[in-house]
Amino acid sequence: MENNFRFYNTLTREIETVIPHKDGKIAMYTCGPTVYHFAHIGNLRSYIMEDVLEKSLRYVGYDVKRVMNITDVGHLSSDADTGEDKMLKGAKREHKTVMEIAGFYTDAFFEDCRKLNIKRPDVVEPATNCISEFIHMIEVLLEKGYAYQAGGNVYFDTSRLEDYFVFSSAVEKEQLQVGVREDVEEDENKRNKNDFVLWFTKSKFEDQALKWESPWGTGYPGWHIECSCIGIKHLGEYMDIHCGGVDNIFPHHTNEIAQSESYLGHPWCKYWFHVNHLNDQSGKMSKSKGDFLTVSLLEEKGYDPVAYRMFCLQSHYRKPLVFSYENLDNVASAYEKLVKKIATFQDEGEVDAEAFATYRERFVDAISNDLNTSMAITVVYDVVKADMNDKTKLALLEDFDKVLSLNLTTAGKALLDVGSSVDTDLEQFINSKIAERAAAKKAKDFAKADAIREELLAKGIAIKDTREGVVWERV
Ligand code: AMP
Ligand code: ZN
Repeated sequence: MENNFRFYNTLTREIETVIPHKDGKIAMYTCGPTVYHFAHIGNLRSYIMEDVLEKSLRYVGYDVKRVMNITDVGHLSSDADTGEDKMLKGAKREHKTVMEIAGFYTDAFFEDCRKLNIKRPDVVEPATNCISEFIHMIEVLLEKGYAYQAGGNVYFDTSRLEDYFVFSSAVEKEQLQVGVREDVEEDENKRNKNDFVLWFTKSKFEDQALKWESPWGTGYPGWHIECSCIGIKHLGEYMDIHCGGVDNIFPHHTNEIAQSESYLGHPWCKYWFHVNHLNDQSGKMSKSKGDFLTVSLLEEKGYDPVAYRMFCLQSHYRKPLVFSYENLDNVASAYEKLVKKIATFQDEGEVDAEAFATYRERFVDAISNDLNTSMAITVVYDVVKADMNDKTKLALLEDFDKVLSLNLTTAGKALLDVGSSVDTDLEQFINSKIAERAAAKKAKDFAKADAIREELLAKGIAIKDTREGVVWERV
């Protein structure tokens, strides 16, 4: 299949044209959420941009199969092998079992995705569904000499690889080798500082709720093995695109590559797509900080979640994005204005095929150029302003919305409908007050009549007695 869809590949540090392993098909994997808490809008920035990537690939003609794991076991708070067990932390906080926590927050995650128009991946697999597959993969790694047992755990031996730090430049590699992650607690079972756990039987979590039998004793898997295994299970030995936030690059994705390629004996995933962070005033938004923004919170404050999607789409996925209510307000009012304008277009006449093709080409250029979503939105505005009939505009906007998912042609109508019902309700209210005032005057209760006038004035409505009767206006 011919096309020029390109994006920045973290592995090669270059913008590359996508050439999938199987012509016309894309095998795509996304690291799913750790379901011990609500997703924050930072996590959701990553999922929004990955959703746009998937939809863009479909838009330019690829047949995409997308897989996502749900991390419901094994993820420790350091992202390496130390710190607290995240699921256990959630269960303790809410006095629930780990599986109850996992079920609740998995549902909450997909509910947020629904509100943000993020499509559910074709396959969603919780890690706890795949324990036997993890065990098999670890057995093969042990057989091939890429793993070892120590102190009851199984570790991956990073010294067996020629190039473990695959995402790093030569200079970074040197720094990483010398001062390897001083923030991480020592584990004296490890032969090399960067080795990581594939299977725990001995950990400091004696109250670990989820444990399974394995050839190495009762225990649970490390975090990284789940993505390698679930990816290979559903997408086969060759993956085209793997996505995540930039914090996943090291150690998570580095370790995924180490395990998968050692297991398979050949290169595994060709393109790595990473979304930069959403930051708040105090830095990276993170669940562990506790105080974070959710979609529900934005809704409570009166924002349409889709306005947050637009907020994300207006900046490039590789740049850090700073969240502030002021910035969101600006985007939300621009969004409202845009969709209300679109709602005035008349769905009549014929689509102008030539104009349609011209603007579609511009849109494809924008998304194919390292997912330039802000440029794609500029094309939306250009269509709205263009000198062409409404039918063609609506056809283009509906088409673009297959990628942008901003409810471009439906949200405005809903807003205008709400506006008109509010007006009708208000009108009824004013008329009833005018009638009440007339009755009070007739009964010579002038105090009450004045009070009604004041009540309306407080609501921004001034009434005037004229020869034709009582009239009102907004003040
Ligand atoms: P987690 O649920 O912590 O496993 O994270 C889910 C996804 O969100 C991962 O792909 C992370 O890389 C990504 N992520 C975490 N924090 C942020 C952030 N502040 N901005 C954007 N993406 C993030
Ligand atoms: Zn992962």
